[in-house]
Amino acid sequence: MVNFMNAEEALNKLLEGNKRFMSGKLAEKDVGSAREATKNGQHPFATILACSDSRVCPEFIFDVNLGEIFLVMNAGNVVEDVVLGTVEYGVEHLHTPLLIVMGHEKCGAVTAACQGGECPPKIAVIMGKIKSSSEKCSCDVEKTVNEHVKCMIENIRSNSETVNKLEKEGKLKIIGMKYYFEDGRVEITE
Ligand SMILES: [Zn+2]
Repeated sequence: MVNFMNAEEALNKLLEGNKRFMSGKLAEKDVGSAREATKNGQHPFATILACSDSRVCPEFIFDVNLGEIFLVMNAGNVVEDVVLGTVEYGVEHLHTPLLIVMGHEKCGAVTAACQGGECPPKIAVIMGKIKSSSEKCSCDVEKTVNEHVKCMIENIRSNSETVNKLEKEGKLKIIGMKYYFEDGRVEITE
């Protein structure tokens, strides 16, 4: 089965799934059939870069089944080379028509970047990726979450010729989102 969805259909499918998640009534899923159907190949309809926060689970948030979304996750949804490579694999090799960069409210990584201070060197690398956004937003955490998503999208655009090309050809749409814990909603920010 090849994925023939366009970006609009892919986005609608995610937003419909989010409505079900918000209502607390997820669609019934036949995981066995999905596993069987995808055993020889994957055809996800969206590539999603999100934060590793254990409460931010895109499969739940968008109520999707096995094989439907291609995920990249790390603390603070930051972009670096391995992330760019993974994103390129999703959009170019797997042909997902949609790329989402999703931040979330009360993000621990963003909060730490806004507060500053000492941290282990590898965590400092993550903080460094968020620093310019936190400075731009006067260290306001929620504003920084939004600005950081915007900044990471710009980072992907300026560092991936593959993404740029697909976007210019109209084969890829890039959307920024923010997830809220209180009611489980996602909002489009970019
Ligand atoms: Zn986070």
